[in-house]
Amino acid sequence: MSETLSRHTGSYYAASANPTPKRPALDGRQVADVCVIGAGYTGISTALHLAEAGYKVIVLEAARVGWGASGRNGGQIVNSYSRDMDVIEARHGKEAARRIGAMAFEGGRIIRERIAKYNIQCDLKDGNVFAAFTQKQLDEMAAKKALWEAYGHTGLKLIDKAGMKDIVQSDAYVGALLDNWGGHIHPLNLALGEAAAFESLGGVIYEQSPVTAVIEGDKPSVKTAHGEVRADFVVVAGNAYLGNLIPKLAEKTLPCGTQVVTTAPLDAKLARALLPGNNCVEDCNFLLDYYRLTADNRLLYGGGTVYGARDPGAIENLVRPKLEKTFPQLKGVKIDYSWTGNFSLTLTRLPQAGRIGKNIYYSQGCSGHGVTYTHLAGRLLSEAIRGQSERFDAFASLPHYPFPGGRLFRVPMLTLGAWWYEMRDKMGV
Ligand SMILES: Cc1cc2nc3c(=O)[nH]c(=O)nc-3n(C[C@H](O)[C@H](O)[C@H](O)COP(=O)(O)OP(=O)(O)OC[C@H]3O[C@@H](n4cnc5c(N)ncnc54)[C@H](O)[C@@H]3O)c2cc1C
Repeated sequence: MSETLSRHTGSYYAASANPTPKRPALDGRQVADVCVIGAGYTGISTALHLAEAGYKVIVLEAARVGWGASGRNGGQIVNSYSRDMDVIEARHGKEAARRIGAMAFEGGRIIRERIAKYNIQCDLKDGNVFAAFTQKQLDEMAAKKALWEAYGHTGLKLIDKAGMKDIVQSDAYVGALLDNWGGHIHPLNLALGEAAAFESLGGVIYEQSPVTAVIEGDKPSVKTAHGEVRADFVVVAGNAYLGNLIPKLAEKTLPCGTQVVTTAPLDAKLARALLPGNNCVEDCNFLLDYYRLTADNRLLYGGGTVYGARDPGAIENLVRPKLEKTFPQLKGVKIDYSWTGNFSLTLTRLPQAGRIGKNIYYSQGCSGHGVTYTHLAGRLLSEAIRGQSERFDAFASLPHYPFPGGRLFRVPMLTLGAWWYEMRDKMGV
């Protein structure tokens, strides 16, 4: 991790975060039922489910709560997974697709339950849109609608070109799929609210406490520079920021950077004209752009993927042309915040959940669509630790492939892959 661990990245979210305490670093020895590594959605969601069930849980966070992708993302509540049930069925069979498909919309429901139960102030708005540039992409959205409906989703609407004026004021699209069960949130405030909920149930979080070693055993030991937690179970939830702490997890994922900017507040009328339904939008390209309004009428726009988690020199220069292509009426708009964050890509683009030995659990690699899955993962990890692992095992039984070429070649290979998909997006094939 090359960024500073003592404060959140300089994002719009950090600038508009709800008040949160600074937690102490771990100093000395502690025991717990469960030790969680990482205070993003995966870690906090697991910890909160377990605390609700009466477990003593300690969370160790290298930086601050929500410091990673969970406090920097586009805030888009996108249902299902980065690879959908049709792909799961084709590759892993009908039974795997049925079991995983039965959970495809649960993560979004968990988020809404959390917000309501713990009164979390995180600007929740309903509705996310998949915007199509081509008829081929729109046909794919029609197929997605049919697929999701077969798995029980009843909140979808296909939008034609004429209907797009009620969705987004841009000539770029031929139509879209609107998911009323999707939506958007201030992601850092969601993470901070969930952490506060966990602490209200007696849970303990140590910040500024990077884990340096995990020692397997009947009661595994989790070590930091100045302390140790012994626990019956460990949950590894460091995702794209885990580095090489556990090499056999690192080799199966590729950390990827994606970049976000936020404009200065727009005139309220202009903001509403840009996105009349106040939905969040992602386009249907492989290397997609995603955007939405914030509660104070800024346009928050993400796009671009710098593979291998390198920090881009000038994020604004990278994202501004994309923003202005979608919204030429915003040419020259002032950008107040620019930042980058890492998500974790897997070769299959399906998340990886599993166990190391019998008492170290992990979940990682949501491949860009993690806001909902991480909340589902928290519930599944807590179920497995409590002895009900059937749903967790639906994911754990999927194959996890290492990236071919090992650590040295993963980045160049993926850069080549990104270039190919960019060409494909440009040619509309
Ligand atoms: C810029 C950006 C935009 C995105 N937009 C969207 C979106 O709009 N919708 C969507 O669905 N998904 C989006 N994603 C993906 C989504 O944010 C992630 O999938 C999700 O937040 C991952 O959560 P996590 O808890 O697994 O990991 P993280 O939130 O990254 O948390 C991991 C935590 O572990 C800590 N950690 C790592 N190693 C250690 C260690 N050794 N010791 C202690 N702590 C450690 C880190 O400091 C970090 O806080 C986006 C991602 C990025 C980066």
